[in-house]
Amino acid sequence: MANKDITSLEDLLKEVKVDKVGAVNLGNWKDTPLWKDAQKLLPGAKSIVVLAMELFSEIVNQTTSKAIVGDLALRDLYLANSGVIEGHLDWEGYKLIKKLHVRDYKGLLLPAGGSPYDARFLEGPLSYKNVAEAAGTGIIGWHSLLITPEYGPRVRLACIVTDAPFTGSTPTDMESPCIKCGGTCIKICPAKAIRKPQGDEAYRLDKYACCSYYTASGMCAECLRVCPAGRTTK
Ligand code: SF4
Ligand code: SF4
Repeated sequence: MANKDITSLEDLLKEVKVDKVGAVNLGNWKDTPLWKDAQKLLPGAKSIVVLAMELFSEIVNQTTSKAIVGDLALRDLYLANSGVIEGHLDWEGYKLIKKLHVRDYKGLLLPAGGSPYDARFLEGPLSYKNVAEAAGTGIIGWHSLLITPEYGPRVRLACIVTDAPFTGSTPTDMESPCIKCGGTCIKICPAKAIRKPQGDEAYRLDKYACCSYYTASGMCAECLRVCPAGRTTK
């Protein structure tokens, strides 16, 4: 039975227990790649909700792209902690979809751990960071990661594509920290995968070089670790 007005949709978002919640109303993005990707995932999609949780600096600080076989690898804490956060994001997304079902809406969760992707082009079905930027959750930095005002790039994201017409979030007025920083991520990237963006590009990343290096070294988060955006004393 259709039951679309028990609680306002916006109130449902207030019940989600994550650090940041944003929404994109696709009515404002008609025929853009974002709209098309959402329609492929869920025909009739009207909005995308994005959930974000902080990945603590204490953990990010342990990451290194270099490892010695057999050595104690504190960098493994990064993946373990990411898993905890991703599980929480997914659970909150699942609960939100349950509430949408009660209201006769559909919701498709794109998990925080990542969606299936096309290995030939390193492309997933939906760019979480593009959704987050469109939802005003942050902006994309030169390293191609989302930068939030509160946590810098140290966040994990999950998305929910839905036919519920959530109102879009207010765009962020944060300024890019990249010009002032000058490209710390560019200097440290061991794969030389990051270049200074040109013209109206938000970033210029050789994702194949990044992926090859990541695979060969077992992990890499150097650009994330050194990014000064949103850093406090931690
Ligand atoms: S390290 Fe600097 S240039 Fe790179 S994304 Fe962060 S703020 Fe921007
Ligand atoms: S993850 Fe590592 S290899 Fe990839 S862009 Fe960042 S610093 Fe470069």
